[in-house]
Amino acid sequence: MGKFKRKKYITVLIVPDDNGKTFNLKMRNVVFWGFIFFWLISLVFSFYILSRHVNYRYTLEYNKYLLKKNKEFAKEILNARETVKRTGELDKQLRDLLQLKSKNAIIKYTGFGGPSMVDTELLEKEIKEDNSLISRKAFELAVKFIDEQAALNEKSFQEIVSYITEQRAKLTAVPSGWPVKGWITCGFGSRIDPFSGALSFHEGIDIANDLGTPVKATADGVISFCGLEPGYGNIVTLNHGNGYTTRYGHLSKYIIRLGQHVKKDQIIGYLGNTGRSTAPHLHYEIRLNGVAVNPVKYLNKEIALK
Ligand SMILES: [Zn+2]
Repeated sequence: MGKFKRKKYITVLIVPDDNGKTFNLKMRNVVFWGFIFFWLISLVFSFYILSRHVNYRYTLEYNKYLLKKNKEFAKEILNARETVKRTGELDKQLRDLLQLKSKNAIIKYTGFGGPSMVDTELLEKEIKEDNSLISRKAFELAVKFIDEQAALNEKSFQEIVSYITEQRAKLTAVPSGWPVKGWITCGFGSRIDPFSGALSFHEGIDIANDLGTPVKATADGVISFCGLEPGYGNIVTLNHGNGYTTRYGHLSKYIIRLGQHVKKDQIIGYLGNTGRSTAPHLHYEIRLNGVAVNPVKYLNKEIALK
């Protein structure tokens, strides 16, 4: 080998500004680089420790924030509980107003079978404890209560809606108001027949007006008959359900067809003089369970709906 090992040295010079004594430090090359190496390592390590510390401070702050959020969330859940409770009370008021009771209602208002408020007390208790995270169990129990109470309310409201719908159908099935503008020329009951002169029973009322005056349905219903009938001329019969039918006789013409659904106040035809009639008028009948009743009682809308 042509080369021989020679020890290399590095000298570190420290020269003060004031021309004072210089300081020199001669050391072997390997020592110098070793020193630099350890210096770098310790630098990296101290940065690591520092960042860990900063991270720790940050985590502490973040935990405080999470704890606050956790409490806020718990309070929101309690608010939801209050809302669902109030909805339940509203539901009770509605039922009382409608005098509507059902199995479901009885279960609910005797307090058996419904969700228990006790389940949410854990959440209330834990909210009051400072600096402790609210347990999963407290959340779960409260949410379970809200879920069950809301489901019960929903079921109850559905019952109320179907009850009101049914009642409304019954109400709208009751004929009310005047089928045609005009004046009553013949009332309901026994009378002397204008054609035969004999005593007969008039099953409706006669309302007179000009030929062609629009005749309207006095309640929602289905056309169960329209056509010519001896004596009545062109007659339309409407079935309103719940036992009510109305009949409109002596029409000049009708503008509906058999089976058609009509709404209250919908024009079904026009006043005429067909059949056994001496002058243009409408023969108007109301039947309840097949028996003719006095239509005069139903001409006033408010009274009829009672
Ligand atoms: Zn008549």
